[in-house]
Amino acid sequence: MPDEVVCVPSQAPVLPAWAEDETLYSWCCRWHRLTMNRTRTSGSALFGVPSAAKVWIAPNPFGQFCAATRGALGHPLEILRGRTIVGSYLPLAKPEDRRRVESGEVPPSFLVSAKSGIALSLRYCPKCARRHESALGIALWRVGHQLPGTALCVEHGQPLIEHVGKRQLWSVPGTEDHREIDIRTKAEFEVMRAVAVAAQYIADSHALDVDVLRRQAQLVVCEGYGVVDVKRLDPHVVDADWRQSTLASWCRRFQPQQVAFPELWLTDILRFRRSERNPMKWAYLLAYFQERSWSSIEGFLAHARNAADRQLSLWSQMESIPLVVLDAFAKAKNSRQAGKIIGVNGSTIRDWVRTHPELVAVSRHWDWSR
Ligand SMILES: [Zn+2]
Repeated sequence: MPDEVVCVPSQAPVLPAWAEDETLYSWCCRWHRLTMNRTRTSGSALFGVPSAAKVWIAPNPFGQFCAATRGALGHPLEILRGRTIVGSYLPLAKPEDRRRVESGEVPPSFLVSAKSGIALSLRYCPKCARRHESALGIALWRVGHQLPGTALCVEHGQPLIEHVGKRQLWSVPGTEDHREIDIRTKAEFEVMRAVAVAAQYIADSHALDVDVLRRQAQLVVCEGYGVVDVKRLDPHVVDADWRQSTLASWCRRFQPQQVAFPELWLTDILRFRRSERNPMKWAYLLAYFQERSWSSIEGFLAHARNAADRQLSLWSQMESIPLVVLDAFAKAKNSRQAGKIIGVNGSTIRDWVRTHPELVAVSRHWDWSR
């Protein structure tokens, strides 16, 4: 790259600290503004690649970035998990892939580019942007808004604005061609909020076992249709019902090009035609279960987490009762309900109450006749 005058680390201008929950790309945009570099020069300085600005979804915090910032922004893995959308893909990745990405052996985009059917855009909330502008003088890209599937700001209940241009620049919110994500009815707001909440849960998880998630999804759907196992489901009925949901109609209207939800996608996940590691599909699936009133997002994930933990004989070594158990006890009206939320049967719940006096207090409101 003979035409590049690279701003080497010792000449780099001040390294700003992270602002709130901004993404790595957001930080780079702010840094780029301070340097008054050309786009390609900043790319070379931070990532060793002139075209780095185009990898806005998952810039690589390992290697050159780590050296250029002299570790001032934290460990690359921490940056990757907390400041890029790779945080959504890591929990669902195969353990071996997760290890390779977490160690910097392969670039983060490895996990993202292995997926298809999702158009990922840069998104911001105009209300958040106004707040940032008055407090910091510049709008930020917030991590939560970029999570795959997220279309509204949970904090403001506000549809996000997405950049639609494909210019490969270090662009701050509102400086490119953009459009507001079209959410019209109260029902649409509710389902898109559910998707955003589910996406956040997934990103906040350390590791999710796709097999456990699938088994849990089978239970939920089979119970929804009143059949004993997944073989008894009629895939066409399941698909037709999905197509009639608020979530599916929103997708059809707003993202007609969307290919992430082909015909029978739901039964394909349940029957495990292929391993499903796409965080957007899981976020939509969970939001759909909530729309059908089959399972709450929290209940679904609490169950999955619990199923994954069960072999560790959770209780015997623990000093205190896990929060998820206490929550379930408080929400439930009887042992069966508590078991359903946590993912164990009613008799296990009753055993727990017998052996843990603390649980007697939190189950006092239960109807023990059921
Ligand atoms: Zn907002």
